[in-house]
Amino acid sequence: MKTVYFLILILSYSIAANAFTVRTTRYGELVKWESDEIDVYLSPSLEMLGPSNQVYSAIEDAFEIWIHDAEISIQVNFIYADCSPGYATSGKNTNCIAAKSSKTSSNEDAGGNASITYSQTTGEIFDGDIVFYLEAGSWKFEDSQDGLDFKHVALHEIGHFLGLTHSSINKAVMYPTVNLHTQKVSNLHEDDIWGALALYDTSELDEAASCQMTPFAATRPNARTGLFQFLMSLLF
Ligand SMILES: [Zn+2]
Repeated sequence: MKTVYFLILILSYSIAANAFTVRTTRYGELVKWESDEIDVYLSPSLEMLGPSNQVYSAIEDAFEIWIHDAEISIQVNFIYADCSPGYATSGKNTNCIAAKSSKTSSNEDAGGNASITYSQTTGEIFDGDIVFYLEAGSWKFEDSQDGLDFKHVALHEIGHFLGLTHSSINKAVMYPTVNLHTQKVSNLHEDDIWGALALYDTSELDEAASCQMTPFAATRPNARTGLFQFLMSLLF
């Protein structure tokens, strides 16, 4: 019974320290990209959202921020061509970023939606798509403008594209709502970075876990990873 109580205690610390969430399969595998190179199509429909150079730059920058700040070793190749969001069980699938003229599905995101298709067995993501909605309001691309900050929404949706789900920390990019006119986020919060590291860099995660779980740090270095993964599976 001692062990059980101890695990519950650590779980409560874990929630306080990290509010990010990731997705796991029914077999407990992390849902993430396995390939270190991903082709992402940028549909010409995106040009309906604003000046094309600003729209494309914001998306490219947002990917770069995730990859650089969280040190994710994935290369994204941008292809500027028409594409269709969604996953087809047969035929060609592309990772597609596009704009739509109307909201066709209910979602809690302000202005955008991301969807991923992954293996329930391995957790590997097969397909990822992001849609920005024209009706979300006036999209803002520069500080001087008023409206919905496009880069913030792009960062949020790319977080989903990479496998993260929502955070309860309201300053995190992965927080589910965004203030239309005042909040501007162009960098990742520490919580977002921990979320990305949880998926793509387990060695960094061990280091973080050892800080929070001091009773194990000195004597059981190999137990930490397994324990943390177990805790993650309890959480999500
Ligand atoms: Zn979201």
